[in-house]
Amino acid sequence: MAKDFLKGTRDSYDVVVIGSGLAGLTSANILARAGHSVLLLEHHYQLGGMATWFKRQNGHIFDISLHGFPIGMIKSCRKYWTKEVADSIVQLKGVRFENPQFSLQTTFDREDFTRILIEKFQVTAETVQRFFDTARGMNFYDDQAKTTRELFEEFFPGRSDVVRLLMEPITYANGSTLEDPAITYGIVFSNFMSKGVYTFEGGTDRLITLMKDEMEKNGVDLRIRSLVEKVEVTPDRKVSAVVVNGKRIACRTLISNANLKSTILKLVGPEHFDKAYVEETEAVRLNNSSCQVYIALKPGVSIPHQGDLLFHSEHSGFDVNAMLSRQVSSRTFSFYYPSTRPGSDRYLVVSSTNANYSDWASMEPEEYEAAKHELCEGTLDCLARYVPNIRELVDHVEASTPRTFEHYTRHVHGASFGTKFEGLKVSRELPQQISGLYHAGSVGIIMSGWLGAVNYGVIVANDVDKQLHAMA
Ligand SMILES: Cc1cc2nc3c(=O)[nH]c(=O)nc-3n(C[C@H](O)[C@H](O)[C@H](O)COP(=O)(O)OP(=O)(O)OC[C@H]3O[C@@H](n4cnc5c(N)ncnc54)[C@H](O)[C@@H]3O)c2cc1C
Repeated sequence: MAKDFLKGTRDSYDVVVIGSGLAGLTSANILARAGHSVLLLEHHYQLGGMATWFKRQNGHIFDISLHGFPIGMIKSCRKYWTKEVADSIVQLKGVRFENPQFSLQTTFDREDFTRILIEKFQVTAETVQRFFDTARGMNFYDDQAKTTRELFEEFFPGRSDVVRLLMEPITYANGSTLEDPAITYGIVFSNFMSKGVYTFEGGTDRLITLMKDEMEKNGVDLRIRSLVEKVEVTPDRKVSAVVVNGKRIACRTLISNANLKSTILKLVGPEHFDKAYVEETEAVRLNNSSCQVYIALKPGVSIPHQGDLLFHSEHSGFDVNAMLSRQVSSRTFSFYYPSTRPGSDRYLVVSSTNANYSDWASMEPEEYEAAKHELCEGTLDCLARYVPNIRELVDHVEASTPRTFEHYTRHVHGASFGTKFEGLKVSRELPQQISGLYHAGSVGIIMSGWLGAVNYGVIVANDVDKQLHAMA
């Protein structure tokens, strides 16, 4: 008989959380810690959502989205998780750029970028300072019509090399483009620039295990392999229950960490919302997806230090479409050294590229396998420029595509970073449409990535806590 992953669940909870991405986990933990009964439902066999990992023969462990995040994670994890989680966050000091316009290594913080912009790119100190101050001063309530392209034109007209330095890493970090609102750039860029790029020592598996232990301590009822099929709403527009693996479980409030559009249009259903809100939801643009190539070196084999993050491009300038193309000309390599997982002797490399779902969606199985093979081979060729004998050292190589991300996280079109900016408004207005119904998860560019997702989980948990107290 099939295992019942919902065995022993209660009939009703104060809060049901759909999905265990970093936002869902953080909301669940905060609300359970505040004394509410919380049920967390995850369709996958592992918690973490995009913050995930997989294991392969010979003891290799690959991290999917552990390339780097801003220092703000330390504070958020200390406050909303544990000291142990926060204390495991360490800086990555070697961020490298290799492209036809420049070759450089940086600690990716304001001080070092100031030096580089002045000494290498010959920008005046006054312009650099004004740019950083402007970016740092941007917030959600500023002018949302100004684009990132306009921001760069204002400070660095005609300087495609400077734009590339400032923009390429952010495009990899959250899929944003020059046409997105400048405030999204300013907020995310400044978060990184404040103190550089950070990672979690011990790998994503250790992080999620620590989070799971903490949630269990706080009483979260955690269920994996539990697919929510439906969110039930009363005729007077109050959330009332979920249907999960065919079972109905009642709830007073619900947080969906699932994709914003599928939450509204599929799990709840458009008939429960105002027409204008449905139209607004339908118009929300998804962010792009990704491809990755995972490369494990043979046990005992090492490579010289290559930096931690290497932004490689063969393209002549910064070009978002080129970065998304299946004809790959830009990649980010993450190098994982034994120090990433203390006690391990392994060297791994993960290559990431932004990708269009539509390029991969309709391939027949044979074509799909061939395309993945081509992606792996092209990546090894590219890596050989930095590690010439890489093919002799490799023990395992495989690729993921937008289809892989869609399969594991159920994000529409495998969107890696949620939605474009307009998604944030739709997400925030959800409880005004249906009482007790909330969304927390990557949306609006600024609320994506590890830090954005954790912080959005906090914001939404506070809203839910307030509502539960008001209902009491
Ligand atoms: C390739 C790649 C690299 C990245 N690199 C970085 C990086 O270096 N730094 C960084 O900060 N960010 C990175 N990100 C982005 C970051 O991982 C995400 O923004 C963040 O983890 C998303 O968290 P989330 O809370 O939005 O939820 P998600 O991670 O999107 O998780 C949503 C969860 O909901 C579950 N779910 C969906 N529908 C249902 C349902 N009906 N029933 C039950 N469960 C359901 C899914 O299975 C999933 O577990 C990367 C993303 C990708 C794809």
